[in-house]
Amino acid sequence: MRGTVIVTGGAGFIGSHLCERFLREGFRVIAMDSLLTGSLDNIAHLFEMEGFKFIKYDVTNFIYVKEDIDIILHFACPASPADYLKHPIHTMKVDSIGTLNTLGLAKAKKARYLLASTSEVYGDPEVHPQPESYWGRVNPIGPRSVYDEAKRFAEAMAMAYHREHGIDVRIARIFNTYGPRMRLDDGRVIPNFITQALRGEPLTVYGDGSQTRSFCYIDDLVEGIYRLATYDGLNGEVLNLGNPEEYSVIELARIIIDLLKSSSSVVYKPLPQDDPRRRRPDITKAMKLLNWRPITPLLEGLTRTVEYFRRRGKEGGK
Ligand code: UDP
Repeated sequence: MRGTVIVTGGAGFIGSHLCERFLREGFRVIAMDSLLTGSLDNIAHLFEMEGFKFIKYDVTNFIYVKEDIDIILHFACPASPADYLKHPIHTMKVDSIGTLNTLGLAKAKKARYLLASTSEVYGDPEVHPQPESYWGRVNPIGPRSVYDEAKRFAEAMAMAYHREHGIDVRIARIFNTYGPRMRLDDGRVIPNFITQALRGEPLTVYGDGSQTRSFCYIDDLVEGIYRLATYDGLNGEVLNLGNPEEYSVIELARIIIDLLKSSSSVVYKPLPQDDPRRRRPDITKAMKLLNWRPITPLLEGLTRTVEYFRRRGKEGGK
């Protein structure tokens, strides 16, 4: 065994893929999840793998683990706007108190710490594409602030532990990511559009659909996180991880309708407050430090995601 990793949010979309990857690489993995937005379905297949342990736990409570821990990956947090708007206070607690508790654990265990941060720290950006050096433009009292400001606080807290206690901290600013194990009903654009297109319902485009996002397939993101977590010499680094290929939301709707040969039309709905106009990562730093870049074309990633959604839909899953 190469060491023990804790993945908070281990039953979530990204967390469950990370558990799988670290197990495959020969690590022991302890997944913690409150199951607020995560699901045991995502990790059911891991229970029979050697070295895997699941603890149903809300990391806003004091965390005690007996084992030695080498790496902590703090991924617990509702990440879909629909989810964090539904759970605003819990979102803030898991990014503040949950981050404090997991950093405290990292200090006690002398473990490396990787924080799952987000492109939302840039808010509705005036700089495009967004490099790590950009400080962002966030509305501190808008509805999205429960996520944006909490993640900004989490970054500040992680850096404080790094500076004051010498914890080996790494911060991943994760841009829009998609793939199997997203919840069909999680409310984000790709699950919504695929579900709607499969049912022949109209795709709900918010605003005029000219706002942009850049979508990274889950396997590419996991590769980036794995490198950021395991490479030496990245102490105190913050890195954007995402795919710099940018699409408008209306383009994405057309791509999904075409891919599924769907009869769906498009309906326009109001743009949510503070919805960022443009988003695209500058990944120069990750390319240099991790020798990483996304390799999965959008159509290929979408095809794999559609397969998963079809299967889940037939099983009656969410
Ligand atoms: N969006 C949309 N229709 C939907 C869901 C989302 O037009 O059914 C838009 C949303 O307004 C945003 C973009 O798609 O501009 C991405 O939204 P998502 O919820 O996936 O994540 P975000 O990038 O905003 O965190």
